[in-house]
Amino acid sequence: MIGNAAWAERAQRALTPNYRQQPIALVRGEGVRVWDADGKEYLDFLGGVAVNALGHCHPALVRALEEQARTLWHVSNHYFVPLQIELAEQLLAVTPFARRAFFCNSGAEANEAMLKLARKYHADRGHPERNEIVSCVDSFHGRTLFTVTAGGQEKYRHGFEPLVPGLRHVPYGDLAALDAALDDRTAAFLVEPIQGESGVIPAPDGYLEAARELTRKRGALLCLDEVQTGVGRTGKMWCHEWTAMVPDLMSVAKALGGGFPLGALLASEEVGAHLSAGSHGSTFGGNPLGCAVALAVLRELRGGLLERSREVGARLRAALEALRTGGRVDRVRGRGMLLGLVLRGVAAGEVMKGARERGLLVNAIGDDVLRLAPPLTLGEAEADLAVERLAAALAAAPAKG
Ligand SMILES: *Cc1c(COP(=O)(O)O)cnc(C)c1O
Repeated sequence: MIGNAAWAERAQRALTPNYRQQPIALVRGEGVRVWDADGKEYLDFLGGVAVNALGHCHPALVRALEEQARTLWHVSNHYFVPLQIELAEQLLAVTPFARRAFFCNSGAEANEAMLKLARKYHADRGHPERNEIVSCVDSFHGRTLFTVTAGGQEKYRHGFEPLVPGLRHVPYGDLAALDAALDDRTAAFLVEPIQGESGVIPAPDGYLEAARELTRKRGALLCLDEVQTGVGRTGKMWCHEWTAMVPDLMSVAKALGGGFPLGALLASEEVGAHLSAGSHGSTFGGNPLGCAVALAVLRELRGGLLERSREVGARLRAALEALRTGGRVDRVRGRGMLLGLVLRGVAAGEVMKGARERGLLVNAIGDDVLRLAPPLTLGEAEADLAVERLAAALAAAPAKG
């Protein structure tokens, strides 16, 4: 059998070097557990970056995929795809503001569609000059040129200039800055309810509601990126259900296909109708395999999983809060099964490495945040075991010099 080291060597020769992989090759998964090529077992608290909401190889998803694989794989959007229509209906049924769904394959594509539609909406209504997108510093919206320009992180844009024109950035959570940035050239304000990739930073209380009011007053759309926070991740179907606002457009991906690549744009009737025939599309978007799996994901969520994940999430959070007494965890932030640990005096990369060696996969963001995104199916004993391993890794990590 080929081990971790041999895979690492082959990867270095064969792949573009754009990822900084951990030195393990994962070969098998079941529930919250994964195994590497050397046979070592881990609790997977990254979950494919908040994708595997039902854990690895959930029997209901495996069954849905196998059945669909024997029935129909792909036909394109030149024809009606019944599973895609059913998935749209079920998503819209749990998303009161939305009346229209468009399917694609990833978060970046969902955001790309969302931003294109925001511009087209105003152009169709005789205001092509309303084409500016306001987004947030340190936001993350994907890696296409439009979405990476919208993302507020210079390190992801460097070298790819010229960027897409017509974007500007405001500090996240700063209403005065947003107020000053919105004018009669603004097409939309694009925002995440929790900034996931930059360290699990929740929007301040009242921010999204106030942003909703401001955009409405100025005639701009509110585009909500729920790619990471959606599909039960925070304990409700959508993270914005914790607030009193609804967006005009919302992007979804990550957990939607439970590991099968699938993205969606959900839109109000008024705005969604402007994605007119021929204006946008995707070859693979909404293909029968992905839709069959997503329908199974939604079925599981309706079967009491959200409620259960809130309970286990609360227990996990309390146990993580208790780690603060060790002096190396400053704060715990986030919601439900999307949590960020702000560390003090130790490098996040060192703790991530120590946790991995102890059989726990977590994600270091920058130098001082650990992100945890375990499956919604996490059990209480598994939550406790993960915190035990994390506590040991925190205690063993060298002090930051
Ligand atoms: C992951 C992510 C994206 C990009 O999704 P991809 O599927 O990698 O294109 C966009 N927005 C947010 C908030 C994300 O977390």
